[in-house]
Amino acid sequence: MSRTHTAVLITGDGIGPEVIGAARRVIEATGVKMNWIECPAGLEHFEKHGEVLPDATLEALKTHKVALKGPTATPIGTGHRSVNVQIRQKLNLYAAVRPVRSLDGIATRYKDVELVIVRENTEGLYSGIEHEVVRGVVESLKIVTEEASTRIAEFAFKYAESRGRKRVTVFHKANIMKMADGLFLKCARQVHERHPRIEYNELIIDNGCMQMVRDPSRFDVLLLDNLYGDILSDLCAGLVGGLGVVPGANFSEEIAVFESVHGSAPDIAGKGVANPLAAIMSGVMLLNHLGETEAGARIKQAYNAVLASNDAAVRTRDIGGQADTAAFTDAIIARMK
Ligand code: ATP
Repeated sequence: MSRTHTAVLITGDGIGPEVIGAARRVIEATGVKMNWIECPAGLEHFEKHGEVLPDATLEALKTHKVALKGPTATPIGTGHRSVNVQIRQKLNLYAAVRPVRSLDGIATRYKDVELVIVRENTEGLYSGIEHEVVRGVVESLKIVTEEASTRIAEFAFKYAESRGRKRVTVFHKANIMKMADGLFLKCARQVHERHPRIEYNELIIDNGCMQMVRDPSRFDVLLLDNLYGDILSDLCAGLVGGLGVVPGANFSEEIAVFESVHGSAPDIAGKGVANPLAAIMSGVMLLNHLGETEAGARIKQAYNAVLASNDAAVRTRDIGGQADTAAFTDAIIARMK
């Protein structure tokens, strides 16, 4: 008999419960036995209980070490830090991985996009250290450490090696932030020396963005600091069909939290029209992480087939269809049988 896996489930805010519910149904349809530990976090929980990230949720993540997480919103103007930033920093989830791939049946200007974003998740301009120096003058500190920069570069090169990737490219602005981005680059170069079989190159980020929209198929693994990684994630999502089709994962040495790139999308929340694919793809990454690669492959083959059918009745509006979340999910499950 196959074993039961335990994982934390955070449905989150906005479209979170809709897309995570869909991902859960698809995972269950594979027959893999999951024991989901449902834990709260985010704005809705804050409005009811006055806290955005309960200690019990953090403890559950530490205990079970694997999670599927929906988007969480943060109350604005209350002094609360972003739930995502808190989870990443408190659990040391230092590496965000976002695979961005062209999908058959999703018409965009680009074919053959097959890149992976590796984003440093714990420092840079997300250190949250801001203050007013004198009235009318504020400072926001970009913290870059040798330790975190080396750690994320090591992760990117090892990821490239283990996945048969060929090249790591760093986007940076070291011509302006000579010390901060300069240190990030120095660490990446040193780590590259330990991984000589992987090619390495650097692009100033403005040039990198231009090259990206001209021909994204030239890129393989991108190694980015926290803010650049955030921005490039959305940019690259736009190249392959939008935020509805890009999954993600956040890793520490022990813990893995699988989570789409998109936010809580309040403009479409509660309407049942959100695209569940990014959450489903994040679920595939979770299954692969748990060693359930056959189940993961079955889901992937099913959603590829649904998209390739080019049938507007079984795809959501953001990717040119008329289906709601449930109909798209049903179509994927039907293809798995
Ligand atoms: P955050 O600040 O939490 O990252 P955001 O403001 O960047 O969020 P999202 O909440 O991700 O943005 O939404 C950006 C746009 O993309 C919105 O118009 C939203 O409706 C759309 N969008 C995001 N995710 C999906 C999805 N899964 N399906 C359909 N549309 C989506």
